[in-house]
Amino acid sequence: MAKLSPLLKQATPVLAERGEGVYLYDTDGRRHLDFTAGIGVTGTGHCHPRVVEAAQRQVGTLIHGQYTTVMHEPLLRLTEALGDVLPSGLDSLFFLNSGSEAVEASIRLARHATGRQNIVVFHGSFHGRTMGAAALTTAGTKFRAGIGPLMPGAAIAPFPQAYRYGWDEDEATRFALRELDYLLVTASPASDTAAFIVEPVLGEGGYIPAPPGFLEGLRERADRHGILLIMDEVQTGFGRTGRFWGHEHSAALPDILITAKGLASGFPLSAIAAPTALMEKARPGSQGGTYGGNAVSCAAALATLQVIQDEDLVGNAARQGARLNDGLQKVAADHPAIGDVRGLGLMQAAEFTAPGGEPDADAAARAHKAATERGLLLLTCGAYGNVVRMIPPLIVTESQIDDALGLWADAVADAVG
Ligand code: PMP
Repeated sequence: MAKLSPLLKQATPVLAERGEGVYLYDTDGRRHLDFTAGIGVTGTGHCHPRVVEAAQRQVGTLIHGQYTTVMHEPLLRLTEALGDVLPSGLDSLFFLNSGSEAVEASIRLARHATGRQNIVVFHGSFHGRTMGAAALTTAGTKFRAGIGPLMPGAAIAPFPQAYRYGWDEDEATRFALRELDYLLVTASPASDTAAFIVEPVLGEGGYIPAPPGFLEGLRERADRHGILLIMDEVQTGFGRTGRFWGHEHSAALPDILITAKGLASGFPLSAIAAPTALMEKARPGSQGGTYGGNAVSCAAALATLQVIQDEDLVGNAARQGARLNDGLQKVAADHPAIGDVRGLGLMQAAEFTAPGGEPDADAAARAHKAATERGLLLLTCGAYGNVVRMIPPLIVTESQIDDALGLWADAVADAVG
């Protein structure tokens, strides 16, 4: 008899049987308030009826219309519909299955388009687990240690982590941009640098929104040096931050945008978007994959987009996110063990620190466990594992936010009170 590999590490012991909206039900019939949304994937909630219906209809029509062999309608319809929400000028889409694959695709495209090799990444970022994406990932040693050599050509610049530095956001931004300028005249000459790749909110690295001016500073440097700006919106896209794209909290626009997760409500699908003229710089056929742009995933994505638009889920993410942030701040005010609360929209987090300010992963783990036991599913993040994050589905209601905050207050009191 085969067993699951011990390689799999699970955040909770829950054996999920069924999902509905913001709830997961386990095999004992117990209900869990799911503030993980499958790591920020099920924006429309678990099994939204319109997503289910679209996927079921597609399963009975065409499951696998392999896109390097034949074209299919769901891919064409989704491409057209995404035109309404993509940043201006990014009129060309290429589909893959996962966030990591889309990151890899963006690196290939950037190298093809510029003829340059280096990719500048920002310290603490997460871009995926495949070997190319892992080379760009510095969100924690578990993603890199012992698996090298990794893809050469990645250069690391600081991300403005104001709280960690003990600075205000402007100071942190000035420092990070100054160091980036230094990098471009030292370790990664601008003339060898193909792209900057950045998350508008540092995700796995600790839920740190790019402070005002940072993305604009990258845009300005990218333009000045002929470097491409890639925004990894795998986690921040599709309404998660209370705007459709995370970068819309800034004035900066990407040259290449990466999307996945929330795009298809749980079906595997990712994409890169860029101007056609940029895509034309790579050879047709230089990218692809057996399952890319799967017909059922595309049908689910189309329904996802329609639900987001019809139910104003972006607006809801902004409103409920503000309520969640407010509640988290109140809990933190009662518990000095929570050193910082931050986030954008429904991408919120609480950072646990010891009295000296050092990261306190044990306290975060205790709070996470206490929440799980109370039926509130959460995730941790951050290089030290001391940040607890909340990423509920975008359909979450005010009363569900309040329920979660009540459970969170009890869990924190239990863990550090
Ligand atoms: N980029 C970002 C910003 C992510 O958050 C993730 C997943 N957490 C990825 C890339 C990788 O996506 P996937 O796990 O689908 O490969």
